[in-house]
Amino acid sequence: MVYDICVNGARVMDPETGLDENLNIGIIGDKIAALETKRLSGHIEVDGDGLIASPGFIDIHAHEDASPYYFPSRISQCALKTGYTSIVVGNCGMSHTDIRGFFDGIARQRLPIGCHTLIGNVALRHAVGLDNYSKADPAEINRMVSLCRKAFEEGAIGVSFGLQYAPGTSYEEEKALFDVAAGYGLFAAVHMRYDYPEKAMDAVEEVVSLAESTGARLQISHLPANVYGKGNIDKTKERVLRSRADIHCDVYPYNVWATTLQSAVFDEGFDNFNFSVNNLEILTGPYAGQYCTQSLFDELRLSHDDTMTACHNAMPIEDVVAAYSLPFSMVGSDGQLGTSPDGQVKGHPRSVGTPAKFLGEFVREKGLMPLMEGIRKLTLLPSNQCDFSRKGRIQPGCDADITLFNYEEIREQASFEINACVEPPDGIPYVIVGGELHLIRPKRGKDEGLRDSGK
Ligand SMILES: [Zn+2]
Repeated sequence: MVYDICVNGARVMDPETGLDENLNIGIIGDKIAALETKRLSGHIEVDGDGLIASPGFIDIHAHEDASPYYFPSRISQCALKTGYTSIVVGNCGMSHTDIRGFFDGIARQRLPIGCHTLIGNVALRHAVGLDNYSKADPAEINRMVSLCRKAFEEGAIGVSFGLQYAPGTSYEEEKALFDVAAGYGLFAAVHMRYDYPEKAMDAVEEVVSLAESTGARLQISHLPANVYGKGNIDKTKERVLRSRADIHCDVYPYNVWATTLQSAVFDEGFDNFNFSVNNLEILTGPYAGQYCTQSLFDELRLSHDDTMTACHNAMPIEDVVAAYSLPFSMVGSDGQLGTSPDGQVKGHPRSVGTPAKFLGEFVREKGLMPLMEGIRKLTLLPSNQCDFSRKGRIQPGCDADITLFNYEEIREQASFEINACVEPPDGIPYVIVGGELHLIRPKRGKDEGLRDSGK
């Protein structure tokens, strides 16, 4: 038997079955066909010696959908080099509303990875003529419900909310859209309403009780960015584990958040938050690389061009650690990279740094959890959230989406500087997506790890 691709000698880790053994993987077409103890032969043979073969990483929380109906190929290449084989965009309430048009645009791009989307409530609000502060009336809610159904029919895999970005979102609006998600068996991902410790548990109660009353599965977005301090992670854990609803959260491995200066986050009430303008680093535009002053902040807020900023030390790193220790947490980047007209790429390094920083720093160096549990948070849990029964697993019959990494060497290399935010991590030499092998970086010390047998 000659496989299309085989990976020989890797340590195969499957978080669903608990398999953790040195095995050889045979791939035919876009599927995993065999896991064998005997060495396999293939038209392309990958030397997996010293590497972990993990299910392909799935970014359950991405934002790379700002462009009209496409996802820049340069940025999709960054995602591939990060070890992602699938990403989920449309989070935090922000998405396209014409989902079919979005998928047609994505298909034309012939991306190296899979791209899935949620339908966002902020986008639905804008589609029916609401601004971020208005409360939807019953007729407007009905129109949003119709558009949400249409989006699900066209392939959106859940609904997202940006409650902090659209403070006018009412309980009735949330409940109506949660109900649609529940009817389709899909999930609601929520960027919660508040951003300061005193109100955090009100925000958690709001979304957990919606999941309980509607039956929709819930994903709390980017814990602990909205839930930190005051023992709030422990309180959230207690509330979630007490609930019978299906609840997960996503966590990025940084205590720095990023958003655009035009967002409602910076509207009146900003003083309530636990940071000042001096914590804000400007990531895009002519002032990129500078920290904000009050006068620069005021100037940029009035500008027509939106400016991406990062808020440093926005939450205690201990709360990020605590969030990863939750049994229901997944890894999500919350990343978005922008390309400026001069071709520079700018943004938060989390877009390309997240899996490597999580595995290298939180799992390996801090020893926060066994490697298998880390892999589960990057693969199986996001796959289950999306109802991908053949992804997030390394088993015969599953999709041939495999990330091969060196556990000793995997390390984030991205940083906040211009272009450095897209620097791919160390330690990921190969990624296989849908049965297609991508050579990311030669294995250290030997670059003949790949053999085209010419058969
Ligand atoms: Zn968000």
